[in-house]
Amino acid sequence: MIRHRDVDQLQQLSQAPGKTLTVYLDVDQNNVANRKRQFETRLKDMLRQLRASSGENDEELATTAGEIEEIVRRIEPTGKTLVLARHSKLGVTFRKVLKIALPPGGYWGNGAFMRPLIEALDEHERFGIVLVDSKRARLFTIFLGEIEEHRDLIADIPPRPDSPSTDKPRSQSRMERHHDESVTSHLRVVALEIGRLLDQLEIDRLIIGGAVGPASELARLLPKRLRTKLVEVQAIPVTASAEDILSRTAEVQTRLERADELEIIRDLLREVRKGGRAVAGMSAVLDNINEGRVWKLVYLQGLTLEGAVCDGCNMLFDPANEHCPICTKVLERETKMIDRMSRAVLEHGGHVEMVDGPAAEALRQVSEVAALLHS
Ligand SMILES: [Zn+2]
Repeated sequence: MIRHRDVDQLQQLSQAPGKTLTVYLDVDQNNVANRKRQFETRLKDMLRQLRASSGENDEELATTAGEIEEIVRRIEPTGKTLVLARHSKLGVTFRKVLKIALPPGGYWGNGAFMRPLIEALDEHERFGIVLVDSKRARLFTIFLGEIEEHRDLIADIPPRPDSPSTDKPRSQSRMERHHDESVTSHLRVVALEIGRLLDQLEIDRLIIGGAVGPASELARLLPKRLRTKLVEVQAIPVTASAEDILSRTAEVQTRLERADELEIIRDLLREVRKGGRAVAGMSAVLDNINEGRVWKLVYLQGLTLEGAVCDGCNMLFDPANEHCPICTKVLERETKMIDRMSRAVLEHGGHVEMVDGPAAEALRQVSEVAALLHS
């Protein structure tokens, strides 16, 4: 989980004088190419490339790259992306394995290159999950693919008083009515408390689970501002483990994210078709990257492309080119072209979006790679 102290450390590193090496490495073990620690080999390639493009004999980069390789050797790949920033002279390191995919790349410059991470923090929605039954309520938040239970926060809710002992016989309906009223008052307290907590935790979306009756009643009792955030009521047992809740809600999250991605691609395709502020296909995208006009680079997740790079003027070209059309130097072959393209876009203040699922299918109709341009 990304916590405040992480963000503080990030700020410190992004403002530190002198150079910082920042690495975003794909360590996802669902990808066969990353197994048996092969991500270490890709890190070596990435660093070699960075040293080549940084020119001269940059001793500081060589030292820092060595330190980064050493750190990665001890990393357990427990997520999708390793984010690592190292300031050698200050002896400061930031490291985090995130459960989400971010565009891979290596950056050597003044201040850590934190924009892809900060953007993910901004853009990803924070989910609140409330599980209720007639006696209990549990609150979880899910952010960047990680789940956290807020035991400490929810402990203030007074437990529902136990049903009075039935030493005097009472009619069935009176007992039922008493029980219903007491459940409702429990749920009213939960709704109020949840409202307060969800504001405090800045929740974007809400899922309610637990026993079916109390869960749907809680949904009705929610304050209006929270009801708009309610995505759905699911039959998740109130005793479910954190891992269980994470997998049960993953499908809902994926569905919402896919819908957002599809919206981006539809906009993009509309612009491409009318010859507006978007282009599709590698050559057109490269031209616009070289001219600094790309606002958002969009590509199929897992895409690999070959290309050519000029180490004289740093321009990116189609692999068919042998010489740089600008400075005539012989071009270097690049097998991880999409990483180079992402890096160039991010360094010029643009954004990168990797798409999967239906959005990927829609994009594939025109190309594997496309770009929305600055207006
Ligand atoms: Zn050139």
